[in-house]
Amino acid sequence: MTTSNQSSTPQPHVSAIPLPAGAVADLHLHTRFSDGTDSPARVVELAHAAGLSTIAITDHDNVEAFAVAEPVARRLGVELLTGIEMSASTQGLEVHMLGFLFDRHHAGLTQHLAEQQARRVERVREMVKRLQRVGVTIDAEEVFEIAGEGTVGRPHVARALLKHGYITTLAEAFSRYIGPDNPGFVPGSPLSPARVMRVIRDAGGVPVLAHPIYLKRDALIEEFVRDGLVGLEVYHSGHTPEMVRHYGQLADRLKLLKTGGSDSHGDAKEGLPIGSVKVPCAFVDGLKAWKTRATNSS
Ligand code: AMP
Ligand code: ZN
Ligand code: FE
Ligand code: FE
Repeated sequence: MTTSNQSSTPQPHVSAIPLPAGAVADLHLHTRFSDGTDSPARVVELAHAAGLSTIAITDHDNVEAFAVAEPVARRLGVELLTGIEMSASTQGLEVHMLGFLFDRHHAGLTQHLAEQQARRVERVREMVKRLQRVGVTIDAEEVFEIAGEGTVGRPHVARALLKHGYITTLAEAFSRYIGPDNPGFVPGSPLSPARVMRVIRDAGGVPVLAHPIYLKRDALIEEFVRDGLVGLEVYHSGHTPEMVRHYGQLADRLKLLKTGGSDSHGDAKEGLPIGSVKVPCAFVDGLKAWKTRATNSS
């Protein structure tokens, strides 16, 4: 069974993280096309206002934000990298894999995302059924309405629970109703990290393990490297300064690229504004150089 290790979100340590000098890129951002609360245009505008030169939108299993965000980014002079955060699992653990610089129209990617989105719809229906069995009467259609046109997920179930007074904070949903060992819990994606990394690489992208602290198993990271992992998200709002140091050293040892970002979800997660965690352009150049080498050698 997939346990929801991703639910035990550590408290943000944003102000304490020692950001590298010259940091101008936030490479982990969510919009309304997944569980963020801001439109893609607003995300780009906020990034511009925060003085960022480069961003990556990384919605969960969704790339629809880019059609809207790209013209805004061009107008404001913000460099927008294609990005995504894909769900996978291994050994009962949830794994979030970021992908950067892929072709967002690639056929294999499009098919993968359609399958994952359909799976997420079924998952929500199953969660709602399980909740109804314990007397929690929310409606799946209402959850889909809350999610709107984007990828549906547990945060939207949480919002329905909040609306109907079953909880008073969104975090409570994950500790009482839809987190691991809770009555409404249904495991996420059954796909392996190797599989989703393959989808990203086939679409010309660079796979990077998101927030490694939520995985808590460094040995798995070495396995992912054998399966095609290229980078590690060293800077993340859930990482303490010690974790940043630890994962920085691990990335060096495993010869992985480094990335970082705030994982901002707009109003859905307080205290994580866009640009609150950022990395230097050199990190972006690292991703681009890897992609160029991979393209030339294939
Ligand atoms: P899903 O992909 O549907 O399993 O939903 C996972 C998302 O739920 C994560 O990406 C977070 O944005 C959010 N999440 C996970 N745990 C918590 C929590 N304890 N409190 C608030 N949001 C959470
Ligand atoms: Zn999320
Ligand atoms: Fe994540
Ligand atoms: Fe995220």
